[in-house]
Amino acid sequence: MANYKYDVVVIGSGPGGYVAAIRCAQLGMKTAIVEKYDNKLGGTCLNVGCIPSKALLDSSEHFYNASHTFKTHGIELDNLKVNLPQMIARKEDVVNKTVDGVKFLMKKNKIDVYYGMGSFIDANNLKVSKSDKSEETFSFAKAIIATGSKPFSLPSIPIDKERIITSTEALVLKEVPKHLLVIGGGVIGLEIGSVYARLGSKVSVIEFADSLIGSMDLDLGKEIQKVLKKHLGFEFFLKHKVVSAENKDGIVTLKAENDKGEIVTLEGDYCLVSVGRRPYTDNLGLENAGVIKDERGKISVNEKLQTNIPHIYAIGDVIKGAMLAHKASEEGVFVAETMAGQHPHINYNLIPGVVYTWPEVAAVGQTEQELIKNNIPYKKGSFPFMAIGRARASMDLDGFVKILAHKDTDEILGVHMIGPRCADIIAEAVVAMEFRASAEDLGVFSHAHPTFTEAVKEAALAATGNRALHM
Ligand SMILES: Cc1cc2nc3c(=O)[nH]c(=O)nc-3n(C[C@H](O)[C@H](O)[C@H](O)COP(=O)(O)OP(=O)(O)OC[C@H]3O[C@@H](n4cnc5c(N)ncnc54)[C@H](O)[C@@H]3O)c2cc1C
Repeated sequence: MANYKYDVVVIGSGPGGYVAAIRCAQLGMKTAIVEKYDNKLGGTCLNVGCIPSKALLDSSEHFYNASHTFKTHGIELDNLKVNLPQMIARKEDVVNKTVDGVKFLMKKNKIDVYYGMGSFIDANNLKVSKSDKSEETFSFAKAIIATGSKPFSLPSIPIDKERIITSTEALVLKEVPKHLLVIGGGVIGLEIGSVYARLGSKVSVIEFADSLIGSMDLDLGKEIQKVLKKHLGFEFFLKHKVVSAENKDGIVTLKAENDKGEIVTLEGDYCLVSVGRRPYTDNLGLENAGVIKDERGKISVNEKLQTNIPHIYAIGDVIKGAMLAHKASEEGVFVAETMAGQHPHINYNLIPGVVYTWPEVAAVGQTEQELIKNNIPYKKGSFPFMAIGRARASMDLDGFVKILAHKDTDEILGVHMIGPRCADIIAEAVVAMEFRASAEDLGVFSHAHPTFTEAVKEAALAATGNRALHM
C-alpha cells in the first residue's frame, strides 16, 4: 500500500472542515487542514457569517431596547447614541476570540494546519499555494472538500463593495446607512437589515417572491413581515424583480419591475445584495482529481458524502442541501466516522433553520405547505406568545408556536415558531422529533413556569385536540 503523508486532508476550515478534522483526529487519523486565508480558521461562519452577524445583532438589539423599551421598564437614559466603530470593534474581538478557539482545538488534536490555497495535483496529492508565493505539496490517502460558498450576485447588479455590497462588507460599515436597500428577503437580508434598522436606518427590502424567508412555513414569513414593519419601520416590495442597481457618487439607484410590469425606482445610500450564495470551488483543481460537479456547480456526492472519486468526500455549503453551519458540522462528523468504518446517520429532515431577527424565527420538520402538497393528513395547534406570562414580563408579545402533527398517529411532523428566544427553544422540538414524539407527549411534559417554552406545551396541547389551557 502507498505511503501517504496524511491519512486525511481537509480543505477548508469552516464549521464543516474544522469539525471534520477534529473528529478524524479523535478517531486516530493523521490529519491536516488547509485554509486559504492566513491565520483565519473558522471559514465564513466564524469570520464573516454566523458569529459576526450575531454579535452585531446583539449590540443593535441593546441599542434598540435602550432607545425604545427601557423607558417603559422605568429606566431613563439621556444622550443615547451609537458608536459604530466600537460596535464593529467588539464584533471583531468576538470573532478573533472564536477563531483563536479553533486554532487551539487544532493544536490540541495534533492537526497540521497549512495556510494557503489548496488545489489537487491529482487524486492523492495536494498543492498549497501560500500568500508569500511559496508552495508546498503533500500526499493523502483520503480528502474532505469543505470549501464552502461565496455570495452570489445577479448579472445586472455589479457589486462594487463600497455602496453595492454583500453581507461581508455590511459587517464592517463605517457609518449607519440613511437608507439601506436590501435585495432579497431571505435570512441574511432580514438579519442585516434588522441590525441597521435598529441603529436608525430606513430599510427597504425588495424581494422577487410573494413572501419573505421563502423556504420556511408561510405563516412565519407573514408574521415576520408584520413585525419588522411595525417595530422597525421596514418597507417591503414583494413580487418585485430588481432589474438594475447603480452607484453614482454615493447614491444607489435601484430599479425593480413589479408584477404589473411597472418599473419602481428606489434610492438609497447603500444596497445590500443578499440573493443567496454559490458553492465555492475556484482554483481547487477538481479536474486534476477527476471530481465532478452538478449542473448548479455543487460537488456531487452520494449518501455517504463520497464524490465520484470514492476516497474524496465533500461536505457543507459546497454540496447539496441547506447552507447552514450546523448542517456542515454534522456532515463533517458523519464523514470522519464513515471513514473510520462506523455507521453514522444524519436526519436531514430534522436540521433546524433559524432567523436571528427579533422576534427570532425557528423551524424544524415539514411546513404546512409541504404536508398539503404531499397529501399527508395533519392537524395543527398554534399558541401566541401574547398569552404567556413570561413574554408579558419581558414585553415580547409578538409571534406564536405552531405544531403540525399527523392526523391519525399524532406524531409531530413540523414545528414552526416566531417569538422570543425561539432560536434556542427549537432544540426541544428537534429532540422530540428525533424520538418521534407525539404532540400529546410534548403537551404533557412539564415545562418550567414562567418560561417562553410554555408556548410549545400549549401549542402541542392545542394540536392534540383543543386542549390548550391558557386560550
Ligand atoms: C452573514 C451570514 C450569516 C450567517 N449566519 C448563519 C447562522 O446564524 N447560522 C448558520 O447555521 N449559518 C449561517 N450562515 C451560513 C454559514 O456561514 C455557512 O453555512 C457555513 O459557514 C458553511 O460552512 P462550510 O464549512 O461548508 O464552509 P465555509 O464556512 O464557507 O468555509 C469554507 C472555508 O474554505 C476555505 N477555502 C475555500 N477554498 C479553499 C481552497 N481551495 N483551499 C483552502 N481553503 C479554501 C475558505 O476560505 C473558507 O474558510 C451565515 C452566512 C452568512 C454569510
